[in-house]
Amino acid sequence: MKRRITRRRFFSQSFGLGAGALLFKELPAFDGGLGGQVPLIITSHTNATGKKAMVAGWEVIAGGGRAVDAVEKAANIIEEDPNDMSVGYGGFPNEDGVVQLDASIMDGKTYNAGAVACLENIKNPCSVARIVMERTDHVLMVGRDALAFAKKWGFTEEDLLTEKTREAYLRRKENLSDRDDWGPPEHLKDLPEFQQRQRRDELDDDPHGTTNVLAVDRNGDVAGITTTSGLGFKIAGRVGDSPIIGAGLYVDNEVGAAGATGRGEDVIKSCASFYMVLRMKEGRTPQQACEDALRMIAEKYKKVNPDFLPGEQFVAINTKGELGACRTTGNRPGRISVQNASGYSIYTGSIAFPTEE
Ligand code: ASP
Repeated sequence: MKRRITRRRFFSQSFGLGAGALLFKELPAFDGGLGGQVPLIITSHTNATGKKAMVAGWEVIAGGGRAVDAVEKAANIIEEDPNDMSVGYGGFPNEDGVVQLDASIMDGKTYNAGAVACLENIKNPCSVARIVMERTDHVLMVGRDALAFAKKWGFTEEDLLTEKTREAYLRRKENLSDRDDWGPPEHLKDLPEFQQRQRRDELDDDPHGTTNVLAVDRNGDVAGITTTSGLGFKIAGRVGDSPIIGAGLYVDNEVGAAGATGRGEDVIKSCASFYMVLRMKEGRTPQQACEDALRMIAEKYKKVNPDFLPGEQFVAINTKGELGACRTTGNRPGRISVQNASGYSIYTGSIAFPTEE
């Protein structure tokens, strides 16, 4: 039977060993990051789409545009990538086969925020979040009513499932249990022609997740977006950290911005993005702030279960253009795409609790 595919598994897989094999290690010392230049725009997506998004967002900033416009333009590109199975169009559905999107936006200049949760059939949830932010006196709208709201503003409904995610959903459904009626009939299921093709499960290798896009513009104003399809095959109606201001995203014009990906429940309980911005306000670099937040969450769990390590990646920038990216554990450090006047580059941060080789 195929294993249940969850975002937690993506993270623990990409991090390498299981939590039982992990040791809590002292962190290496870090400088403030390789950035140090403003204006800039960053994203947690380091693939080709992330780069395309950075180029588009940078065009806005380089032309003297606002950080809030730049992050929206960049995030829209990632939301529209059909091959990205964690964000927007082509994102994994919930356990009922329905794509439910979460997104938030925050504008440091106006100290304003907007978000949508469990939004169906709209490709660009972060743009709906922006309307919530700018055209209502609310911060968060959810579900059916968020969809109705989006339609009032001219967003059109479309099917967000792609052939790839529809097939992934059906394959998972058929392999989830041998105690239900999904899959070939009992007397046929072992015959070769009725067995599913042993395709490499592309879901297992998806290196991306939710996306965070953060920017500082020429005026020194800061903005951010976090947008996602959430945990793959989540329970219908589940809301992650991405649309929760302070959890999946936080922006402070005087300090910087932070965003989270990974297991949303951990991020909500720790108010992680707010915590990171607070740490930066206290003088920590963005890199240190990311590490502080991951360490803080790990310490909470350690008291309950010494062998458990959560799975997140946190990213942060400050108003000086310094950078931060950290993953909880594994052998792949946190990474972000960065675009500033020097061009496009990938910044490599750290691993809070590296796995033992
Ligand atoms: N943070 C997202 C959520 O919990 C998932 C992810 O980042 O992959 O919904």
